[in-house]
Amino acid sequence: MDEVQNQAQILVDKNSKGKERDWRGRKIASLKLSEVFQALDYKETMVERVTSCAEALRFIKQPDGHLKLYQAFFCKNKLCQMCNWRRSMKYSYQTARIVDEAMKQQPKGRFLFLTLTVKNIEGEKLSDTLSALTQAFNRLFK
Ligand SMILES: [Zn+2]
Repeated sequence: MDEVQNQAQILVDKNSKGKERDWRGRKIASLKLSEVFQALDYKETMVERVTSCAEALRFIKQPDGHLKLYQAFFCKNKLCQMCNWRRSMKYSYQTARIVDEAMKQQPKGRFLFLTLTVKNIEGEKLSDTLSALTQAFNRLFK
């Protein structure tokens, strides 16, 4: 190991627009979540997973100086702020790829944002309502 690797460094990771990514704040939030889980007597394995979420991160420095995440462990808990942030970045990336491909295939195409909803229902009507929604959705696209 050379001298630089032995020195403790505070992580500075910036996105493509130069904005600093708040790894520290999200890690603190995941630790608070694990404390809540512990206080609520959640399974020890779940508490440990959230506690160790993003505990060690390995980055590779790119030729342009940016850091690229190379190796990490994430708990993937739906309430974990760290994992929700990672998940939202993944969905954003995937959506951008889909939009790029759609624009390539249909250059004159336009996007519509459509929300389909129904009035709230009682639990026992859920199955029938979901079936009706699926049928209506299929009718719409035929
Ligand atoms: Zn997590």
